[in-house]
Amino acid sequence: MGRVLILPAVWLPPRALEHLGTLVKEVTVDTPWGEVGPVALRRHPSGGEVYILPYSGHPTRLDPRGTVWAAKTLGVRRILTWERLVALDTDLQRGAVVVPDDYIDWTRRLPTTIFTEYGAGYIPQVPPFCPETHATTRALLAREGIPIHGGVYLGVDGPRRETPAEAAMYRRWGAAVMGMNVIPEVVLSKELELCYGVLGVVTELAADRPPVPPGGEVRETLRRILSALPALVAALAVEPTCTCHVTLARAKAQGVLPEDWRLWAGPRDTSKG
Ligand SMILES: [Zn+2]
Repeated sequence: MGRVLILPAVWLPPRALEHLGTLVKEVTVDTPWGEVGPVALRRHPSGGEVYILPYSGHPTRLDPRGTVWAAKTLGVRRILTWERLVALDTDLQRGAVVVPDDYIDWTRRLPTTIFTEYGAGYIPQVPPFCPETHATTRALLAREGIPIHGGVYLGVDGPRRETPAEAAMYRRWGAAVMGMNVIPEVVLSKELELCYGVLGVVTELAADRPPVPPGGEVRETLRRILSALPALVAALAVEPTCTCHVTLARAKAQGVLPEDWRLWAGPRDTSKG
């Protein structure tokens, strides 16, 4: 089984995650960046298990290195961030579902790597997201009748919103949506050879778009996704056949990185000369 971790960054009604099954246990994981958790393990009546670590972005955002490290420690193979998005693309309205094709990293104050001790850089970002996770997510939601959009995701630090001038600039760069909870997790997941995907829901329109009063579209989309989530988790829990788990095979073969990923965050053992 390829265990799945869901990182909900959307606002969910109380007890909403009970859709994913009963709470089996809650665990706290020690990481080089402090404790992460409690991470909830839920089991669906159909047998599927999923880890969930709810968080809601700044200012309560956990150290993303700790989040991804905890996932690896728990034996997770796939991470899916359930992200809230600001829509730059004027065709996207509130409640639209976006599984992005690519990303632009416009963060400046977040950690960018776990490799401060080893020269394991130059990790390719093609494909930007785990292709299998995204194909499965698109197919499953389409089967449930939920329309899926693509496009480029732009990651920003937050916690403030964008100005109208920034929104116009990001759109000219080709970004369709922006958010605060995908970068650097997508990068760090590659560093720990995990599959990483994004299921985005547009909750706001960009600052330079005419305001539209909310009409319950977001709530309706979240409801539809929640009811599709157990099936999505089951579909994602199959053993990955993508190449995300061998991202660093060459670095390991060349001796740039130790075989044991637990050593990758350092401190480096220099005693062997
Ligand atoms: Zn993958």
